Amino acid sequence: MTSRLGVRARFTLLYGMALIITIALVSGGIYFFVQRALLGQVENHLRKDFSTINDYLKYDLNALAKVADHGPILLFSVRDGLQPVVTSDDWRSNNLEQIIPADNKKDSLFSIIVENGERYRVLAGSTVSGDRTYQVTVAHSENSVRQTQKTLALIILLILPMAAAISLGIGYVIAGRVLAPISAITRKAEEISAENLSERLPVGQDNDEFSRLASVFNQTFARIEDSFARLRRFTADASHELRTPLTAIRSIGETVMHAPDEQGNCREAIGSILEESDRLRQLVDALLLLSRADSGEIKLRRELVDLAELVRETVEFLNVLAEEKHQTITVTSVVKSVVQIDRTSVRQAMTNLLDNAIKYSPPGSDIRITVGTTAANEAFVEIADSGVGIPENDIQRIFDRFYRVDKGRSREMGGAGLGLSITKWAVESNGGRIEVESAVDQGSLFRVIFTN
Ligand code: ADP
Repeated sequence: MTSRLGVRARFTLLYGMALIITIALVSGGIYFFVQRALLGQVENHLRKDFSTINDYLKYDLNALAKVADHGPILLFSVRDGLQPVVTSDDWRSNNLEQIIPADNKKDSLFSIIVENGERYRVLAGSTVSGDRTYQVTVAHSENSVRQTQKTLALIILLILPMAAAISLGIGYVIAGRVLAPISAITRKAEEISAENLSERLPVGQDNDEFSRLASVFNQTFARIEDSFARLRRFTADASHELRTPLTAIRSIGETVMHAPDEQGNCREAIGSILEESDRLRQLVDALLLLSRADSGEIKLRRELVDLAELVRETVEFLNVLAEEKHQTITVTSVVKSVVQIDRTSVRQAMTNLLDNAIKYSPPGSDIRITVGTTAANEAFVEIADSGVGIPENDIQRIFDRFYRVDKGRSREMGGAGLGLSITKWAVESNGGRIEVESAVDQGSLFRVIFTN
């Protein structure tokens, strides 16, 4: 039931209930405290009257008779056994004869309702004067006490619903004010869609829960906006990259169509077409790998792998490219570094790094690979070349998809700018990290570190 109510209504109800319970408890407390205090006063009176009468009984019985007729003690009766000694006028006229005097030595205090419905507080006791024992009974009407109680109860009963109404009203207003930022956040969040992801939720001045909530949502929006932008850029870049070899294939075809029908021409054209389609296939393979990596489809199978052995396999695989450029690759392995990694993906990472080192180094240069462990006992592989190097401003971006420092040169070498993105994914998903040191025209060093 309550869960169907809005937060504002629930808050109001809870606040109202808490306040009403508090007011009811306080009112009840006041009611009983006042009652006790008033009855206490009446009892004090009774005790005073009782001791005054005792004094009269002891010293001046005649004066007590005058008191009975003229006050100031209004309601009392003194008996000796069953025999009335002195009884005040009011005692008789108020029909208090029915009160049975105390016959024991102990004083007793009680309330009594007489025939006409009046309620009296009574103090009864006995007192000894000379050789006689008197039964003294004094009474005091509880009327004023009851009247005050009634008025108090009436006030409480009037105040309670009023307090309930006021507290519900105040609760409703407070809840509205407290929840106002939530409404503003909700309204704005409803407006934000894929088209206007750059908009942000209103963040309040105070550093309260709502401003923090809005900031957290804003950070999420920023991340979504960023990934949307990256996705758009990626799609645009991918289409562009795919378009280039396709255009090349088409123009080769057109040229051959219009050229004289010579067999040599055809072979050359087919060779170029094969080259372009190979580039296309490599690109599609890389795109497919990245999209599978993004969606977490690639399952890594971790096993203990000797890094130096893996590096040697990679070198063997790519040596032919280095030989074409008369480059030498040296592998130095200081200590045996065995790590728990997925062999296939890490081999792919090493292949990309070594391929780049070969691609971006001049013919006849040296490529140095070192396998070892860092001071923190982490296994690493360093691939150092003395090639073109990477400008400082570009270093941060070379791992971005399709990013190439020199687009023309990279494409000429068959690169689409995806190799390092794949490498980064492969290293990081195997629990490693990658570092780069580079100086233009001096060379680059890529260091892959595995923490396990
Ligand atoms: P590509 O397929 O273009 O080589 P990568 O993602 O492998 O793409 O590399 C991105 C860019 O980083 C390259 O285009 C190149 O400009 C730069 N780069 C990568 N490795 C090296 C290197 N060893 N020396 C110089 N530049 C490099």
